[in-house]
Amino acid sequence: MSFSSDIKDELIRVDCKQCCKKAEIAAILRTGLIFRKTKRKKTLTFITEHGLLSRYLYTQIKNVVKKGPEIYGQKTPRLKKHVVYRIDFNNLLDNDEQRSFLKEIGICLDADREGIEYHRYDLEDRCCIRAYLRGGFLSVGSLTNPDKSYHLELNFQNKIIQTEYMSFMEYFNLKPKHITRKSYEIVYIKEGQDIVDYLNVIGAHNALMEMENVRIMKEMRNQVNRIVNCETANLEKTVNASVKQVEYIKYIDSVIGLESLPPALKEIARLRLENTDASLSELGKMLSPVLSKSGVNHRLRKIEKISENLKQRNINKETV
Ligand SMILES: [Zn+2]
Repeated sequence: MSFSSDIKDELIRVDCKQCCKKAEIAAILRTGLIFRKTKRKKTLTFITEHGLLSRYLYTQIKNVVKKGPEIYGQKTPRLKKHVVYRIDFNNLLDNDEQRSFLKEIGICLDADREGIEYHRYDLEDRCCIRAYLRGGFLSVGSLTNPDKSYHLELNFQNKIIQTEYMSFMEYFNLKPKHITRKSYEIVYIKEGQDIVDYLNVIGAHNALMEMENVRIMKEMRNQVNRIVNCETANLEKTVNASVKQVEYIKYIDSVIGLESLPPALKEIARLRLENTDASLSELGKMLSPVLSKSGVNHRLRKIEKISENLKQRNINKETV
């Protein structure tokens, strides 16, 4: 199952007061109902792939409306195992009960009966606004698996409903963005922290925890990568320095022989030749008594100087 689907399972189980339940159902229908017209009838339909959501919505409506609507499960012709659920409000003009139920949540057939007309739906209580946001996500929301990327999206079919939903989000200081794509009004959030805040508002606490875990894991992975990169860079520096030091030592050896170096320098030169991949502090630890990193550095600098001087002398000889 997808991450979105898991969140919806969780949201359906959220326990809330009667006032909130009404706001939640209103949101599901206001954001999700579509107008369908066939030769024989005009229908307001809610379609979802989420079986639990369709049953939940249907049960909630049935608590109020005794006659109608009807619920169907349909296998899609393309994907055989894939089922789509449909809740149909039929014969709206003849069914007062359905009509007044919908009217109460601000939904009517428009005057020429060729579409849906939305009326204002006012909510005052914080608890109900929260529930409305939850209903909207159940109906038209999705969230990509945070392992891949952070992307929360709600696809509205109507500008009024999208604006209304966004204003409810802003009431909770959430930071949604909006874009129009084809015939959809899309509200989205891409920031990890903002998505977490949204999940908190709508009551998806398990999803929130999961998202936080993924975020922590990602952060740790990044940190480890940073450390590894840093160590790789240091190692490179050590190796490059060592290659040069070995060059100096070999040059001295070829010109005057290592034996002619003072004992302290001779010792470090030998160790360097034998341990080309050791760091300065590692070389220091091989000496007795142990020498600090800067002490080793000091001696190697002296060797460098001697080598440079020898080279210079040779050049001078050649030019004389
Ligand atoms: Zn409430």
